[in-house]
Amino acid sequence: MTRHITFIGAGNMASAILGGMVDSGYSREAITASSPDESQLAALHERFGIQTTTSNVDAVKQADVVVLAVKPQLMKDVCTELHGTVQDTRPLIVSVAAGIPADALERWLGGDLPVVRCMPNTPSLVGSGACGLFANPRVDADQRDLATTLLGAVGLVEWVDEESLLEAITAISGSGPAYFFLVFEALEAAGVKLGLPADSARRLALQTAAGAARMAQQSDQSPERLKRNVMSPGGTTERAVHCLEDAHLRQAFLEATDACAQRAREMA
Ligand code: NAD
Repeated sequence: MTRHITFIGAGNMASAILGGMVDSGYSREAITASSPDESQLAALHERFGIQTTTSNVDAVKQADVVVLAVKPQLMKDVCTELHGTVQDTRPLIVSVAAGIPADALERWLGGDLPVVRCMPNTPSLVGSGACGLFANPRVDADQRDLATTLLGAVGLVEWVDEESLLEAITAISGSGPAYFFLVFEALEAAGVKLGLPADSARRLALQTAAGAARMAQQSDQSPERLKRNVMSPGGTTERAVHCLEDAHLRQAFLEATDACAQRAREMA
């Protein structure tokens, strides 16, 4: 049975997820997006053939799943607006908003509802996301599968059993793209310093990162082993990796992810 999925908000995250679902064959008639921005809705209708409306309340009436994809600061108002309708229809609520606890969403929606909270990341926008998911106790196995299908349409999905672990997910994959962008910046600058044109250094850095990630994903060997395989004794890579270790790269990552998780706790 096809479930009706309604997106509240039609911006980057909603269009990435619903686009991924349509591309993977989900019925476009079973997807609705709601937003006050009519031009955004027209563009989504044109591109994906989904249903659209400017009324959040109308949008959720038929929904088996309601995906809350508005900015975190709007979430309380949007939930309060939907309260009466979702208390009648009792859909699965899926929130992609950073930093808003499941119990706050549930409370704003009137209580006693199945809520899945997600921590996606920006590569979801190109179908290569990594997303952490947490379900409150009212979410059943079938609804978990539905949430996995939904977020799986734009990348990898990892469930956590404790909501606080979403802070760890934030520190690794939520904020993680920025760590890699920083490395790309640094490698490009290093390539330029060694005499390469900037655009060439950038292409080489990006392709090397994509290749290393693909190799690590496809290999049975650990990243530690794969690293050792490149490090011939006395060779070039060994010398470079020793420099990175001497510069306390691991410690820097520990401190950065700790600071990130701490900030996520402060914002929750
Ligand atoms: P966005 O600004 O692109 O989209 C927000 C959408 O909400 C727009 O379509 C806007 O018209 C709509 N909107 C505004 N007021 C509304 C209302 N009252 N009712 C219904 N819709 C309304 O934002 P985004 O980047 O898609 O982010 C959405 C959520 O996703 C945020 O809560 C953010 O924390 C989360 N998120 C985004 C990313 C990302 O990669 N962009 C990553 C992680 C989490």
